[in-house]
Amino acid sequence: MIFKLDYGEDITQAITEECRRKKIKSAYLFFIGAVQKATIGYYNQKTKKYKKIFINKPMEIVSGVGNISVKEEKIFLHAHVSLSDANGKMSGGHLFSPTIVFACEVFIIKNRRKLVRKFDKQTGLFLWQR
Ligand code: ZN
Repeated sequence: MIFKLDYGEDITQAITEECRRKKIKSAYLFFIGAVQKATIGYYNQKTKKYKKIFINKPMEIVSGVGNISVKEEKIFLHAHVSLSDANGKMSGGHLFSPTIVFACEVFIIKNRRKLVRKFDKQTGLFLWQR
């Protein structure tokens, strides 16, 4: 499946909603485009908390990769982005909201295997069951 996100939409919300509408519970995905502003995160492995980084300027989405699985019975998007600024300088990390679309093309490939996330004590993250 391939679709575009609209100007002003939030990437995480828009992709998650599209997957809910299409009942896609397991998939991997890619997206490219540009954002008006972004929120990315770095997971601190010691404190087990995300540090959020707010980028309040237009950036290119050089690469967006992610997957869809089920977390606490809801369809859940996990995505990471590489963003570049006007000088080609890169920033990247875990994708958070709000990250606002300027233009965005999304490619989703469905998975047959059901993927469910469960809380993992060691990492403090919701990880897939083996
Ligand atoms: Zn992540």
